[in-house]
Amino acid sequence: MTTRDAVLDIAMVSEHASPLAHLGGVDAGGQNVAVAELAKALAARGHRVVVYTRRDDPDLIARVDTAHGYSVVHVPAGPPRNVPKDELLQYMPAFARFLSERWGQRRPDVAHAHFWMSGLAATAAARRQAVPVVQTFHALGVVKRRHQGREDTSPEDRIRLETNLTRCVDWVAATCTDEVAELVRLGRDPARISVVPCGVDPAEFSDTGPAATRGKPHRIVAVGRLVPRKGFDTVIRAMPRLPSAELVIVGGPDKSELDTDPEAQRLQQIAAHCGVADRVHLYGAIAREEMPMLLRSADVIAATPWYEPFGIVPLEAMSCGVPVVASAVGGMLDTVAADVTGRLIPPRSPRACAAAIAGILTDPTVRTTMGGAGRARVTDRYAWRRVAEDTESVYRTVMEVVR
Ligand code: UDP
Repeated sequence: MTTRDAVLDIAMVSEHASPLAHLGGVDAGGQNVAVAELAKALAARGHRVVVYTRRDDPDLIARVDTAHGYSVVHVPAGPPRNVPKDELLQYMPAFARFLSERWGQRRPDVAHAHFWMSGLAATAAARRQAVPVVQTFHALGVVKRRHQGREDTSPEDRIRLETNLTRCVDWVAATCTDEVAELVRLGRDPARISVVPCGVDPAEFSDTGPAATRGKPHRIVAVGRLVPRKGFDTVIRAMPRLPSAELVIVGGPDKSELDTDPEAQRLQQIAAHCGVADRVHLYGAIAREEMPMLLRSADVIAATPWYEPFGIVPLEAMSCGVPVVASAVGGMLDTVAADVTGRLIPPRSPRACAAAIAGILTDPTVRTTMGGAGRARVTDRYAWRRVAEDTESVYRTVMEVVR
């Protein structure tokens, strides 16, 4: 076996985003999916993968060996209950001590940290055990601050600590080209950045198979955590110009809890104010297994955030053969091919959103052609199998560079 074929011992660190978590809540979304799918695809390539995530429930057992060939270790750092991710920084030293102890017993070949706080814990532990560290940020504090201003609840020190990590960590696996520009502005050496996108499983998110039933001639679907920056209000405000369509918004807490969710309330008020409440349906969170069927029920997926570090939902939609109307920001500048697999529009523009969606709804050929092109694009470039191969190359590079 040559070195390039050697089985790797991979330690993934994902402090708040467990690959086993229930999705849809404020802090559970794309990162959980990315860590789970990447761990699974790397394990399928024969590697030993352990994901370290914070123990956030007293009932969690110390180690879970998943059916997908990787293990999850629940790290006792902070109270064993759900704590908002913006309050977790104080527990990172304990997280790092745990990693250091474990890695002292069995040193992994490489550590892959997801999100900035995981990077702090992983680099602290790795220093003692000389483990090379690859960092994926998934989101950057400077971008969040730029868009959210005073609404940003990140710890005071985030930007300083994250910038420092940006400059010092062995390698950065950015998820899109736009992030590379941000990282370089923060002082990162571009020679030690690779772009490795998130992915999708084309078999799970298939373009054939059952579709959920709809209530109107046309259906628009929007999916994401129910937070203002996802820009669901932009699509709601576009609805008066799209009279033949219903809008289904998926994500947030379970449907039974939507009445007490502030963002759900805000969106429902906007829908009422626009006179479209009867055509806007909030579904709450749905299980991942139900997602392909729901996406296939749409004529178009609207992804209209203010900003988006990557955006897995547009890939899932394309994989299901559905066109995407997306804000021209972040990862979607790479994933959505403008006028081929969907349309790119300026963020926060209900008028542009309505025009782009109407163009797809009124022409079935456009819908079919764009859907087919989207499917081809993801199977070509974004299957997790391929993303895992690229990630593995990054690991081998960093192992050589840091040796
Ligand atoms: N998701 C889900 N159920 C929900 C809402 C979202 O399974 O009710 C999944 C969705 O299919 C996608 C992920 O959560 O895989 C969201 O990832 P994305 O990158 O689009 O957004 P993020 O959460 O990272 O902002």
